[in-house]
Amino acid sequence: MKLTYLGTAAAEGFPAVFCNCQYCREARALGGKNIRTRSQALINDDLLIDLPADTYHHFLTNGIEGDKIAYLLLTHSHLDHCYVDEMSMRQGAFAHDMRVPALQVYAGEGARKKIAGSGCYLGNVCVNAIAPFETVTLGRYTVTALPARHMPGDGALFYIIREGDKTVLYAHDTGYFFDEVFDYIAREGLVFDALSMDCTNVDIPIPNDGGHMGISNIEEVVARLREMGAVSDQTQIVINHFSHNAAPLQHVLEERVAPLGYLVSYDGRSVEI
Ligand SMILES: [Zn+2]
Ligand SMILES: [Zn+2]
Ligand SMILES: [Zn+2]
Repeated sequence: MKLTYLGTAAAEGFPAVFCNCQYCREARALGGKNIRTRSQALINDDLLIDLPADTYHHFLTNGIEGDKIAYLLLTHSHLDHCYVDEMSMRQGAFAHDMRVPALQVYAGEGARKKIAGSGCYLGNVCVNAIAPFETVTLGRYTVTALPARHMPGDGALFYIIREGDKTVLYAHDTGYFFDEVFDYIAREGLVFDALSMDCTNVDIPIPNDGGHMGISNIEEVVARLREMGAVSDQTQIVINHFSHNAAPLQHVLEERVAPLGYLVSYDGRSVEI
């Protein structure tokens, strides 16, 4: 399985759209891996996670053929994950000869409401409901939705994605995991080959009942998963989804988490799982 990070920033981007803070100025000057667009990832070449306004840019810069994408998992309705208007480009005069006739979208309650309320015409896009702890089979993938501690009232989700004997946990956006999530992972006896962890705050403190995580919260989650056997020494752990407030310069983050053995996402980074 290949996981490609297309966008690795929080909602404002890095450098942030309208920001002139010291970190954003530094990112603009350094460029390269320090330029982070809004959150999106691709599994292999056909399972997309989230749909920010930067989707078109991601497809262009990564050589992605959008018509081949069969599945789209939405995590929640925040703008950096659910830019509904783009879906209306998959129909009529806007899209011809698509190799996958219909895009199957899976979304929780808030994202579905946003789509329904948008007034967008969704030809060739099927929106399906998925509930916390529900598992669906999508072609060669098995996908389970988990409830996220993020955006209360939205029914925000994060996902376990399995293909063959590989299992990935894609945890964006979420704060510290609910106890029921740990219980589910233990009950199912899951062992993760890769974890992609919400690291919005990096080293800015956030309590475990907050809607995002930083490195110390991630360390706690990883320790608990390791204790229950869901994380091993072989598990690849990637931190991702960074706020400009946390100064997410690539070389600084890499140095910071090297002792922990974590990888740091950047736009365009692929991880072989
Ligand atoms: Zn986000
Ligand atoms: Zn800034
Ligand atoms: Zn969010």
